Amino acid sequence: MKILFIASEVAPFAKTGGLADVAGSLPVALKRLGHDVRIILPMYKTVGEGTFPIHKGRKSVEVRLGETLHKGFLRQTTYADMPVYLLENRHFFQRDHLYGSPEGDYPDNHQRFAFFCRGVLNLLKRMDFRPDLLHCHDWQTALVPVLLRYEYRQDPFFMNMATLFTIHNLAYQGLFPKTALAEMGLDWSYFTIDRLEFYNQVNLMKGGIMAADLVTTVSPSYCKEILSADQGCGLEGVLAERGDDLFGVLNGLDTDEWDPATDRQLFKTYTSATLAGKVVNKKGLQKRLGLDVAPDIPLVGMVTRLASQKGIDLLAEILPRLAGEKVQFVLLGAGDETYHRLFEDFTAHGFGNISLNIGYDSVCARQIYAGSDIFLMPSQYEPCGLGQLIALRYGAVPVVRKTGGLADTVFDGRDGAREPNGFTFDDFTADALWEAVQRALQSYRTRDVWKKLVRRGMNRDYSWQQSAGDYERLYRAALTRKRI
Ligand code: ADP
Repeated sequence: MKILFIASEVAPFAKTGGLADVAGSLPVALKRLGHDVRIILPMYKTVGEGTFPIHKGRKSVEVRLGETLHKGFLRQTTYADMPVYLLENRHFFQRDHLYGSPEGDYPDNHQRFAFFCRGVLNLLKRMDFRPDLLHCHDWQTALVPVLLRYEYRQDPFFMNMATLFTIHNLAYQGLFPKTALAEMGLDWSYFTIDRLEFYNQVNLMKGGIMAADLVTTVSPSYCKEILSADQGCGLEGVLAERGDDLFGVLNGLDTDEWDPATDRQLFKTYTSATLAGKVVNKKGLQKRLGLDVAPDIPLVGMVTRLASQKGIDLLAEILPRLAGEKVQFVLLGAGDETYHRLFEDFTAHGFGNISLNIGYDSVCARQIYAGSDIFLMPSQYEPCGLGQLIALRYGAVPVVRKTGGLADTVFDGRDGAREPNGFTFDDFTADALWEAVQRALQSYRTRDVWKKLVRRGMNRDYSWQQSAGDYERLYRAALTRKRI
């Protein structure tokens, strides 16, 4: 099969979150299954600053948005033996950030990604690659299935092309006032309830969900949860309408990238058979962060965006309790300014067993996964979650709220169905989190039981192999179910 991944961020070229990891590692797994997989993303300023040799091609496209004709240029590079295409337009993509500055989203995001979507479709006719399937991700690429269904499929070149649309986080929908329609070069025929209209606004994600041949999200549990008013972010009705075509496929992990046996950023590499190496990492982390170097004190870690989704309010509530326990707690996170201030205030009190670190630091993150005994993820909702998978692979036992992808990957001995690899709690309250932390600490004291738990987590297969097979089957289904 010929598959084109169309995404607004792809690791290692451009990344703000989990989407980039998926768009960078799933294609590699699909290629291993024998498919011709290629990737296209916008040519951001930051991509050009990387170490990738980007070839300047001569192919160009024109996209009319409202009054203005915008020109795009096709660039190309290679990653994991795969062609990676980049659509260049300096006006739209030569900026410091992907979607917005710290002050807020770029006001022309609708135009930037409308340009990208139409630009990609226009380019296809000029490239020597005619995909069978377009795999689109989140609202930034949602116009691809919409345009394909209502415009491009009338052209025999596109007639047999199918689309699969993946939701990575339903909370970000690409919502714009209706004046955005003309600015994106779309006429009023698109402003209907079965296309882009949503409570008198333009909702790009809704359009993608309605128009794609198949829709997926990144874990089976999240797939069910988003059908409820509670977690559907207003789109539960739209999703229910596509219920027969909606599937949850769990994200995998790039197991070459995340491997304690080869990770060069660690104080010492280790495997489940050489757990002594993990103690070296614990001591190294304690020393680096100015904590007591004490291998027997349980070390609880957290690496996260500081956003309310991640349960940071629950953490803030239990911090004083952690400060009074015989544990060490280490946080690395960046995000909402209010949380930065809250943690700076807490740090000013100088609790010797708590280390709160504000910032984004991929080396320190790896050292925390390796040095922690316990890893917290008390998320309010979690489409899939990568943190708990990395923690398991690095032998840090996860304590998570049972939601979305966390519920699909972390199992508590109490539910009986699966062998335990961590600790879970249900209610989104500080008390429920605290009770789960207590259970983890209790178990930590029984060394044999604990080691078994750690090893079981480390030895599970987190690779993309199985999920890539699931996507392969869904691609085939999409090809036979094209919406006309
Ligand atoms: P989300 O995509 O919602 O932020 P995930 O758990 O799916 O959450 O993925 C988060 C990824 O980003 C993980 O690889 C995690 O290690 C990394 N990460 C999050 N915050 C930081 C930080 N402050 N410094 C370094 N890495 C971080």
